[in-house]
Amino acid sequence: AVFNRIDRVEERVKAYVTLTREQALEQARAVDKKMAAGEELPPLAGIPVAIKDNMCTRGVRTTCSSKILYNFIPPYNATVVDKLQAAGTVMVGKTNLDEFAMGSSTENSGLFTTANPWDLERVPGGSSGGSAAAVAAGEAVVALGSDTGGSIRQPAALCGVVGMKPTYGAVSRYGLVAFASSLDQIGPFSRDVTDCALMLNAICGHDPLDSTSAPGEVPDYTTFLRDDVRGLKMGVPAEYLGEGIDPAVKEIIRQAINLLASLGAEIEETTLPHSRYALPTYYLIAPAEASSNLARYDGVRYGYRAFEAEDVVDMFMKTRSQGFGPEVKRRIMLGTYALSAGYYDAYYLKALKVRTLIKQDFDRAFERFDVLLAPTSPSPAFKRGEKTDDPLQMYMSDICTLAVNLAGIPGLSIPAGFVEGLPVGLQLMGKPFGEGTLLQVAYTFE
Ligand code: GLN
Repeated sequence: AVFNRIDRVEERVKAYVTLTREQALEQARAVDKKMAAGEELPPLAGIPVAIKDNMCTRGVRTTCSSKILYNFIPPYNATVVDKLQAAGTVMVGKTNLDEFAMGSSTENSGLFTTANPWDLERVPGGSSGGSAAAVAAGEAVVALGSDTGGSIRQPAALCGVVGMKPTYGAVSRYGLVAFASSLDQIGPFSRDVTDCALMLNAICGHDPLDSTSAPGEVPDYTTFLRDDVRGLKMGVPAEYLGEGIDPAVKEIIRQAINLLASLGAEIEETTLPHSRYALPTYYLIAPAEASSNLARYDGVRYGYRAFEAEDVVDMFMKTRSQGFGPEVKRRIMLGTYALSAGYYDAYYLKALKVRTLIKQDFDRAFERFDVLLAPTSPSPAFKRGEKTDDPLQMYMSDICTLAVNLAGIPGLSIPAGFVEGLPVGLQLMGKPFGEGTLLQVAYTFE
């Protein structure tokens, strides 16, 4: 059924970089057989899943939507891919993204752009725009994305689906192509909150292959799906409903907050005073880490190589200048500058200190509140091409999501309403490893 749907709509949506139809149908038939034989099946047996094309899949091209990895076929699976396979899912294909996950509209893809299924003239958000669009268009039942500064939550909001960025360390990053290692986290897209819980059950947990992966038991997230928010304390940080947020979006968030209050949640305004520095802090730390992580693409070990070179240094330079797109180059330059001798203290080190202040704001808020409520994105989906000439405008798309990554806490975006036919997302932010409480609150909207 999912491939039938893909045949009907994919030409217009363009969510996928690679479709793995043959393998998927084979796997699906195997599940059918097991079912017919009355065998016991894993929890997500036969569920069609889409994987963002920055997660390694053995034998299946993994491009990061970059020319520099256009021919890269990993010899191993990311841990999440293994875990989803063990849970019984069937991989439908690999989805489009902003090159190396750098962007907010999937327009920075080095391959092609993806449309928002609600309005094909508009962007699906990004960087996991392909995964969000695939789920929204019915081209997959669930999907995986990665979120460094909002790349799961923002496209989920713009495409009207559920998207969760788990706590840093909750999901293994092994096999996720690194963008900014201290911020990157893998998480699910789904049509509803129950599926989000089922996906978390499948992908969370300690992994000895990722040194930042958190030890400890993983709860059964479906146990949090109870229709009750009475007595939960919820904070509404004033900074997230201030300037720069579309008034129609604010209205929908207020309505959601009123609904929670009417169901017995205790709601109070609060403040995260350092949030206003999240954008500059993120755009120092993320590019700094990216400039280091992307040093490995040298044309020697894998991916694209420029052959018309005079010597090895010339080969490096030509490979990288031809292989990377403009946004990736911009980030490498910003990051290299911020890390260079003489500027390190003024920029990178300063950003790390501000990051701590941002984290402390959240720590203080969570002494009083179980969750914080905010918009996910300052506006609904914008028109394709509208922000491509203005990187700063594009960066502003993430003002509501960046601080969560800097603090390492979980964030969940759920559909909260529509503005002129376009979906708007409500963002729930939680304590470290408080994913369950986020699901509990989100479930009341279903
Ligand atoms: N839009 C942000 C950026 O461009 C976040 C991307 C992400 O979360 N991967 O860096």
